Amino acid sequence: MTILPRRFVMGMFDLEEERLLAEIEGRGARKIILQLPDGLKAEGPRLASLVRRRTGAEVFVSATPAWGACDLSLDAAARLKADLLVHYGHNEFLRDGSNGVPVLYVPAKAKHDVIPVVEKAVSLLHGKTIGLATTVQHLHTLPEVTKVLEAQGFTVQTPGRGPWAHETGQVLGCDYFGLRKLQSSVDSFLIVGSYFHGLGAALSTEKPTILADPYDGTARSLDADRDKIVRQRYAMIEKARGSQNFGILVSTKPGQCNPQIALSIRNQLEEKGKSAVLLYTDEILPEKLMDFSEIDIFVDTACPRLALDDPERFPKPILTRDEIMVAVGAWTWDELLERGLVRL
Ligand code: SF4
Repeated sequence: MTILPRRFVMGMFDLEEERLLAEIEGRGARKIILQLPDGLKAEGPRLASLVRRRTGAEVFVSATPAWGACDLSLDAAARLKADLLVHYGHNEFLRDGSNGVPVLYVPAKAKHDVIPVVEKAVSLLHGKTIGLATTVQHLHTLPEVTKVLEAQGFTVQTPGRGPWAHETGQVLGCDYFGLRKLQSSVDSFLIVGSYFHGLGAALSTEKPTILADPYDGTARSLDADRDKIVRQRYAMIEKARGSQNFGILVSTKPGQCNPQIALSIRNQLEEKGKSAVLLYTDEILPEKLMDFSEIDIFVDTACPRLALDDPERFPKPILTRDEIMVAVGAWTWDELLERGLVRL
């Protein structure tokens, strides 16, 4: 999930216009879908006009949210008969998942100088061995950040690739696999990026996690935030154990669509004598669930951050697909924490 703070956006990200134009011309594309994350959408009209003027191709700018590379506008591309989908703000997520529509990913590298905020974070770090990670926007800064930390006597390790985060040192809102693999060999983690990505890291490992946020220039420990959310999640799972009617949410977004997992959860709930219904939608929004008043608990099989970050937005408690495993007794709470709370 990428939400770029609006006030920092204009001019602060490399939109690689020349590469965009060269790709369009090289591929002979004549009808383009342009998808930008919130915060970069304001660049859409300018990019569309540039593409039309320089290549003659028609451009449709997506006005719907694009939360991640899990959220490719493939249906719209097919309906509008586009011959190229340009997706800004992320790198590749689904391998061969584009249903035949060519996708050009432009990560939108940030131009922020991250060193001042990393220097602020230094005094908050625990121990001398640091796990360092960031989002795709700041990956190019990792060598310099590493040098700064090493000059202060730290040993730096960066996570390897995960199932969805395809670059060394990268984290995604739903993929902290590399961090979890590193956690036994580091004393604390430093995440360079937004609060959203830092919090995901804190919820995925049990080591102290420090955020250096180049968007607001602050550095902070996220350990208290993690503890608060962990307590909330435990309480929600306990509530689910005593509940009867479940609604299992399936998203039709290409990278979040998990119907087999939903079916398996439905079956496990029924084996425990519970009632469960499968509900599908594209974007899972609280207002879409208001009418299902008989349901006691929702289970989110799509983006895990929907349940974890803002559960109070939903009309009823909402669990992730992993948390429901604890509620039905298939996993223990400790097993869930060992796997990490965030996982797609
Ligand atoms: S599933 Fe959620 S966290 Fe993962 S990339 Fe998509 S929007 Fe981001």
